[in-house]
Amino acid sequence: MSPAELDYRTLRARLERGELRVREVVEACLDMVERRKELNAFISVQAEAALRQAEIVEQRLRKGNAGRLAGMVLGVKDNIAIAGGRTTCGSRMLANYVSPYSATVIERILAEDAILLGKTNMDEFAMGSSNETSYFGPTRHPKDPERVPGGSSGGSAAAVAACQCTAALGSDTGGSVRQPAALCGVVGLKPTYGRVSRYGLVAFASSLDQIGPLARTVYDASLLTEVICGYDPRDSTSVNLEPPAILQKLEKGVRGLRIGLPREYFASGLQEEVREAILSAARSLETLGAHVTEVSLPHTEYAIATYYILATAEASSNLARYDGARYGYRSPRCSTLEDMYFRSRSEGFGPEVKRRIMLGTYVLSAGYYEAYYRKAQKVRTLIRRDFLEAFEKCDVLLTPTSPTTAFRIGEKLGDPLTMYLSDVYTVSVNLAGLPAVSIPFGRDSRGLPIGAQIIGPTFAEALVMQVAAALEQEGRTN
Ligand code: GLN
Repeated sequence: MSPAELDYRTLRARLERGELRVREVVEACLDMVERRKELNAFISVQAEAALRQAEIVEQRLRKGNAGRLAGMVLGVKDNIAIAGGRTTCGSRMLANYVSPYSATVIERILAEDAILLGKTNMDEFAMGSSNETSYFGPTRHPKDPERVPGGSSGGSAAAVAACQCTAALGSDTGGSVRQPAALCGVVGLKPTYGRVSRYGLVAFASSLDQIGPLARTVYDASLLTEVICGYDPRDSTSVNLEPPAILQKLEKGVRGLRIGLPREYFASGLQEEVREAILSAARSLETLGAHVTEVSLPHTEYAIATYYILATAEASSNLARYDGARYGYRSPRCSTLEDMYFRSRSEGFGPEVKRRIMLGTYVLSAGYYEAYYRKAQKVRTLIRRDFLEAFEKCDVLLTPTSPTTAFRIGEKLGDPLTMYLSDVYTVSVNLAGLPAVSIPFGRDSRGLPIGAQIIGPTFAEALVMQVAAALEQEGRTN
């Protein structure tokens, strides 16, 4: 087995015993990137820096003072800043933009001796569910290159699934960590809003965005979460709480826990094989001693509309800064100031980003603000209340992550509404600010992975991962 294929716990043990060197792990990952170049999972790879970092980490391991992530090789979604490197956001607009500073999450993982391999491909400005809107071309699904890996953290998910890195960071505004994790068959967690600092994450929709880990095991995702969580005065939405202690809970099991199945998440539009897999996950949890009950989240049917009003409104405001003046792309063919704005934005942004900016500007405009934006804010409160009520009857919720398994490249690209419906089970979690994880559970008849989502109350990352660990164990033995 190549060291690139090892989960971190196994990897770390071998590094500590001296059976493996950090350099070999990095080289094995670089080799996987090279061997599966057609996946297009990375936008940039920093091979030399990674190999240099490997030597430093190796010495720390030898001295016995290595950090918690020593030798973990990471891919980082290309909307998270690493000082001195490019942060493109998958856009022509930022294709040559070099970050002057590092995101807080990067400082935290480097302080624990992780190794940065490169920046992963993504939908332009994280807008998409398929990774097809990237300026750098689509990422392909590791199991079937004719299919999408999901999005927008599709590069991160594909890279982890294809063993090009041990784990990765993504961002989740409406499902962008969980949905690609589900489609690629890896673990992806969106922590509670405010848990992880977004300092250095390029903003899409600020009331929804959150950084989260993708990994091949629940343990690895939990470890990475513990490291990236924590208060950061540089992000005003960061919550001043101790990082969650997840690892110590992973073996606790699910006996006595109440698992809720939200009725609305099993309605029409759900692929039959996905429904069966999630119901079989529920039965597994029951066998392990959990109580499964049906619950209701009555405002679910409004979630997509609400999300696409609020997310586009915030995006239109956040993306106003790309005007050709201070940073990013400037059209070489402009004569007046207005012309510069017009051409730079017309040429710098792709069609999906433009669609979102137009939708967002529309719902915020005088005359429509009350009818759309204000109303969506109210519905957001109702959606949040649905969850609060459900959590009076159960400890966590179990749902599908995505209504279908990986779809074909091009299949939904011409039909934005169908594409937006890929997010039907994930966006409510962002609207309510909750933690949720997607873990692989079963496969469809084509052998494509199915993702099960576990949603918890705010700050219950440890509980969510505890249930995920139990299901992971079941999924393996089944
Ligand atoms: N697919 C959703 C969208 O297109 C979610 C994106 C995300 O979470 N960044 O907005």
